Amino acid sequence: MPVTRIATLLRDGQPGENVTVKGWVRTRRDSKNSFSFIELNDGSCMKNLQIVVDGAIPDYETSIRLVTTGASISVEGVLKESPGKGQRVEVHAVSLAVLGTADSTTFPLQKKGHSLEFLREIAHLRPRTNTFSAVARVRNCISRSIHNFFQSRGFLYINTPIITTSDCEGAGEMFQVTTLDLARIAKIQTEIDWKQDFFGKPASLTVSGQLEAEIYATSIGDCYTFGPTFRAENSNTTRHLAEFWMVEPEMPFYELTDNMDLAEAFIKAMINDVLEQCPEDMEFFNQRIDTTVLAKLENIRSNSFERLPYTDAIEILKNCGRKFDYAIEWGGDLQTEHERYLTEEHFRKPVILFNYPRTLKPFYMRCNDDGRTVRAMDVLVPGVGEIIGGSQREERLDVLTERIRECGMNPEDYWWYIDLRKYGTVPHSGFGLGLERAVLLITGMTNIRDVIPFPRTPGHAEF
Ligand code: ATP
Ligand code: MN
Repeated sequence: MPVTRIATLLRDGQPGENVTVKGWVRTRRDSKNSFSFIELNDGSCMKNLQIVVDGAIPDYETSIRLVTTGASISVEGVLKESPGKGQRVEVHAVSLAVLGTADSTTFPLQKKGHSLEFLREIAHLRPRTNTFSAVARVRNCISRSIHNFFQSRGFLYINTPIITTSDCEGAGEMFQVTTLDLARIAKIQTEIDWKQDFFGKPASLTVSGQLEAEIYATSIGDCYTFGPTFRAENSNTTRHLAEFWMVEPEMPFYELTDNMDLAEAFIKAMINDVLEQCPEDMEFFNQRIDTTVLAKLENIRSNSFERLPYTDAIEILKNCGRKFDYAIEWGGDLQTEHERYLTEEHFRKPVILFNYPRTLKPFYMRCNDDGRTVRAMDVLVPGVGEIIGGSQREERLDVLTERIRECGMNPEDYWWYIDLRKYGTVPHSGFGLGLERAVLLITGMTNIRDVIPFPRTPGHAEF
């Protein structure tokens, strides 16, 4: 008999049906007159399935003592209306088989209530907990929502390279990729001949698929890339990973305000989808992780985002009477404390900051006529800070070439990017959203290490 997932059974199962379920035991309780109750979870939903085992089933005595927390079992039985509270139906077992035991003296998840820090040490077992399985389901829902949002608008999903020889952000936070035997070279040479390397020059893991996405946007139209992204930033924060997932839409003929409109609609669509498709998991987050998360999301989806020039934000921060750790000066980068003050306390809703000083932003952002700012936009949200970074791109050949030089780079290295401005250039825009930052926002979790299955941070790549 095919296995039915517990989520399906609890939703659609009809009393009288014969079913087979398989999963991992959360708890077992025995009653005096040789009856046992098993709470079974298979990860398909937050709720456990209650299984009633009569001592009269075959091999009851030998198998039931192996049914301990963490063990995997297979059960055939009949669905019955449940007299107990908390579930509509339960399974009365006809036969039970233990697939894999879990030694109760060593199984780390014997009891509930472990700290998130402890669970990070056992990333191979943490998805067996309510919190991490809920995060996995919501993360999946957000990924589906991302594809639906763009697909329903006719965007093409493209894949940009993971190994690259250009540094998009010019920030130098890249992981090098090489096949050279560096240990050997260190012993016999003082310099490395990159011509001997696999690609004939230094290569790295990508920090963004944007430059390549621009190539496709300016030929096939609206498109998006969604893939792993790598940044060797040595900042041990709760919002940075060395490996994260980024979705980057790129749109020809979009100016900065069109870009903002899309970003706002996009964030609202993700929230709507999760609230609609994962109500049970969201209820859990609201009860156990952050009691304000549902109200916060309701507020975000029902209000328009504040749109504010960087220069005005600096004025607000200077005059707000708040003492910040980092000083505020026009031309300085906003720190998380500034971003969060604006979105959480001053406006109490998402804020789109735009027109940043050109000295703060990469070469590809379109220069404004004031000579001081570029058409950048960052979307800031409560609880997280920056969730999206984007811009209108510089489409003018001469300005772009000059900006590349100004940023200390060689235009020749970007010849293909410059070509796009030589042949049929158009105004265009795009942005990048970090998937994990979206999961933080929507679940109310506070550490980015807890919203990706296997976090990579400085010194940590165990699993
Ligand atoms: P931050 O100032 O927070 O470091 P950034 O300005 O470097 O972000 P962008 O280069 O604009 O970010 O990248 C676009 C988006 O990718 C960010 O808005 C954020 O959602 C996400 N992102 C950037 N760096 C990281 C990281 N190290 N870990 C997780 N997500 C990230
Ligand atoms: Mn960064």
